[in-house]
Amino acid sequence: MKVYVLSLGCARTLVDSEHVSGLLAASGHTLTDSASAADCVVVNTCAFIREAEEESIAAVLELADLKRSGKVKKLYVAGCLPQKRRGEKEDLLALLPEVDGFLGPGDLRKLPALMEETAERFFVTSPVPTLLFESKSPRLRMTPSHFAYLKVSEGCDHACTFCSIPQFRGAHRSRPIEDLVEEAKSLAGEGVVELNLIGQDTSYYGADLYGSPKLTELLTALNGVQGIHWIRLLYAHPAHVTDRLIEALRDLPRVVPYLDIPIQHIADDLLKAMRRETDGRRVRALIERLRARVPGIAIRTTLIVGFPGETEAHVEELAQFMEETRFERLGIFPYSPEPKTPAERLPHPVHEKVREERFHRLMSLQQRISETVNRTWLGREVEVLIDEPGEGRTYADAPEVDGLVHVKASQVLRPGQFVQARVTDTTEYDLVAETAASVAA
Ligand code: SF4
Repeated sequence: MKVYVLSLGCARTLVDSEHVSGLLAASGHTLTDSASAADCVVVNTCAFIREAEEESIAAVLELADLKRSGKVKKLYVAGCLPQKRRGEKEDLLALLPEVDGFLGPGDLRKLPALMEETAERFFVTSPVPTLLFESKSPRLRMTPSHFAYLKVSEGCDHACTFCSIPQFRGAHRSRPIEDLVEEAKSLAGEGVVELNLIGQDTSYYGADLYGSPKLTELLTALNGVQGIHWIRLLYAHPAHVTDRLIEALRDLPRVVPYLDIPIQHIADDLLKAMRRETDGRRVRALIERLRARVPGIAIRTTLIVGFPGETEAHVEELAQFMEETRFERLGIFPYSPEPKTPAERLPHPVHEKVREERFHRLMSLQQRISETVNRTWLGREVEVLIDEPGEGRTYADAPEVDGLVHVKASQVLRPGQFVQARVTDTTEYDLVAETAASVAA
């Protein structure tokens, strides 16, 4: 069949979707890049919060129209939504009657066979997902050819009280260093120059396999892979960033001075209620160490506002911390009560309107901070990775979530090319730069 794979949610799900595409192609199907050209559609869903579940269901319902109109013959739903709702599968089956089969993230490898052998509707999920794709698993990448995500681990052993991810992604499990190096080499062979390391908690990498975290050893091994120019670390946990990891960020030439480290809040009593295994003093000390020891480091974080028990004083403390720290990149989520999580039963819930108001207040504060941080790049000579003609990123911009560099050049620049450019202007989130050649012209 001609199959279209729609990937929703995060980069971790995207990698799964790439493996699903690879498995389907290896089973003789052809992958298309639009639903209207497909006989069969697979939606790999996201369900980390209620809103994401609703978006996933809305996307499936839209595709169900194509099925009802006879354009699409088969429709499958995979990933986090079926797994998270495995306890209410009858409701999901009833809600989405056009869907021919549901598959959890731990069962993705079974899809080609199920598509071939099963005429009946199926709902296949594992009690606890354990799947971990390895380097020899077929993979058809959905990112532009010059950058890729490398999923170093899956699942999570933390117990943050607001989070349901461990319930449907399973326990933390790492891939062996040798297998990740193998995959990095084949990605480099495909023209990948930027490798983005992902997991639920990358800083805990290897603890299950080797008895203690081995992220530094992994970075050292990946740093030796020819052809890779930038290695970027995403999704680290503040409780697991060691001094050795900080040295690796500073000393390994291919590892960019960038760290994505969700801290969620800064108030001690809220960090405790969130069970974040750290406190405000340690978070501040960690950021101080990062800034002191890794020249030019760009730090990305995410915060949650409106967590049960949060007061105006807590929000003031968070705003002050943001002013002091001036994160280069920062995202904020209004707290979303998740079923079957401890936080859902905590006293003093914050009204939805108040959550929204705090979200907007802190987002506009960060917009001002980001504007002043960006102004410090004015006049600097920077290395830019071109994503498309006229547009690229510096080492301080992760793909798809951070800022852009709008590049003025006298020659056509191709995706995957690195150019030197001088920053001539800035906006809240982006930079404007000119290549040396265009400056000369
Ligand atoms: S570290 Fe916490 S927030 Fe992140 S996936 Fe694990 S439990 Fe969820």
